[in-house]
Amino acid sequence: MIKSSFHIHSRFDDGTCELEDYVLSALEKDFRVLGFSAHAPVSVDSCWHMKQHDLDEYLNTTESLRERYRDRIEIYTGLEADYFKGCTDWRNKKGIDYTIGAIHMVQDPESGIYHSFDGSRKDFDDILEEVYDGDIRLLVAGYYGLVREMLMKMPPNIVAHLDVIRKNNQGGRYFDETEEWYRDEVLSTLEVVSLSQAILEINTGGMARGYTTEPYPSRWILKYCLDMDIPVMVNSDSHHPDTIDFYFDEVYEMLKDVGYKSQRILYHGEWKDVGL
Ligand SMILES: [Zn+2]
Ligand SMILES: [Zn+2]
Repeated sequence: MIKSSFHIHSRFDDGTCELEDYVLSALEKDFRVLGFSAHAPVSVDSCWHMKQHDLDEYLNTTESLRERYRDRIEIYTGLEADYFKGCTDWRNKKGIDYTIGAIHMVQDPESGIYHSFDGSRKDFDDILEEVYDGDIRLLVAGYYGLVREMLMKMPPNIVAHLDVIRKNNQGGRYFDETEEWYRDEVLSTLEVVSLSQAILEINTGGMARGYTTEPYPSRWILKYCLDMDIPVMVNSDSHHPDTIDFYFDEVYEMLKDVGYKSQRILYHGEWKDVGL
């Protein structure tokens, strides 16, 4: 059993605290591996992505932490990279060990404004009205369509929070996950995840911040992932050092319950399946 998280934010983007604070917290919680994943810089106006001019400092800081703590924990440098029309491809950036691919936003073709899929409830109402004419089925198809497009055109190592559009769906306010049209969108997306050989993360960040009562993706989705041989990885999407292993014990148990025997992580410099 190797404890790790490859999805960590910090003061370099929209998280809090220094990168080293996360390393210290990880050591306290018996992690063997830690991967940082600042939101990669974007060309559009944003308050939550890392700034382009901070990228070198981010790379230098992770590198020096890797050296300083190398006897106690493995440290990797990643980026959570947004996929959208005209986005930068960060996958071969020198100093970057892996990317987590994410769909957080889409541009309204009429106004040119970028709207968020995983913002506040008000943001969700806005994207639904402005970009998808108030039609939740169009939004769901639009979101998963972008995930599939990302996987085909710019496949990352890891797929971020697959069903993050659930964030504001408490009590089935916008859609019912058991309906066939919703399941079909998810299942056709899993087909592409499987073909791309990307790792699907189990993300406890929405829970840690109080938006959801179960990790992304929903448990019913994991059963299909197992059937399709999609490798998984448990991540916390932490924005504070205290939550780097939030709900991990429960997720490890849940994965075993579903039938998973291992998770796939970067370990000793290679992607490896390690036992749960
Ligand atoms: Zn994200
Ligand atoms: Zn994140």
